[in-house]
Amino acid sequence: MRTKILGSAAGGGFPQWNCACRNCSGFRSGSLKARARTQAQVAVSTSATNWVLLNASPDLREQILAIPELAPSVDSKASPVSKIVLTSADVDSVMGLLHLREFQPLHIYCTSAVRRVLTEENSLFRVLNRSTPPAHWEILPLGRLSPLVAPSGPATKDGLFCKAIPLFGDFPDYVSDSLRRTLSQDEAVVGIQLFHKDKLFFFAPSLPGIGEQWRSVVDESDFALLDGTFWTDNELIAMKRGKKSARDMGHLPLSGVNGLLQHRFRPGKTRKVLIHINNSNPILNEDSPEHRQVLDAGFEIAYDGMEFNL
Ligand SMILES: [Zn+2]
Repeated sequence: MRTKILGSAAGGGFPQWNCACRNCSGFRSGSLKARARTQAQVAVSTSATNWVLLNASPDLREQILAIPELAPSVDSKASPVSKIVLTSADVDSVMGLLHLREFQPLHIYCTSAVRRVLTEENSLFRVLNRSTPPAHWEILPLGRLSPLVAPSGPATKDGLFCKAIPLFGDFPDYVSDSLRRTLSQDEAVVGIQLFHKDKLFFFAPSLPGIGEQWRSVVDESDFALLDGTFWTDNELIAMKRGKKSARDMGHLPLSGVNGLLQHRFRPGKTRKVLIHINNSNPILNEDSPEHRQVLDAGFEIAYDGMEFNL
């Protein structure tokens, strides 16, 4: 299973177009040792002809164009991209679907609630139905295996399967109260666990850190891409850029009491990499003590172009 990080920042990217925080202005002036990052996007493959996108970022068009493996085949004329798995209905997770609208038949995997938010309230996504056949929405049941890529034969284990893990986040603010009342709350935000041969990969770019299940899923996985959005719980409040804490926004902060770095995971098993890093997060500064603390705690920090082989 190959995993490519096409984008590693939270919504807005890094630097963010309208932000003059210490990170963004330091990057622009060249005084900060940091990499530019596009908005979080991951692609997974078990064969050259089949890539699965995890979420669909607002930067998706440029991200696909930057990766030669994602180009359509000259021989078959087909794109290797036709499947997308969504973890939520957040704008940053779904906006890129509109970049995929060029008459490409798509299979979109998400919870029933996310499908309803996107198809019942947002008529813009109907452009995906112009393809032949129209976009097919596949419902991911919570906690059960669903096939993404069928095995090549009855006795082989080379297929790709996924399981949606409820993470107990909230629906995006844009969802109307009337629809929200009819949706199942535990379908709002999920982590995706992928299974290929005997390897497990857990993808949770929005991790509220509620309950215990997510920790055992990290511990049983060989590789985990986890929420690295904020360093502190009051990060945006302190910068006067918002009224909500990190936890209020569904992101377990990295530092502080019960922050992600304080959790004791099973030693030696899981390669843990932070993704979805907000432009305000001091870990973007590679000379910062916070960046060092993350590495010392046994985590890596994703960057655009990073690749993993499981
Ligand atoms: Zn900034």
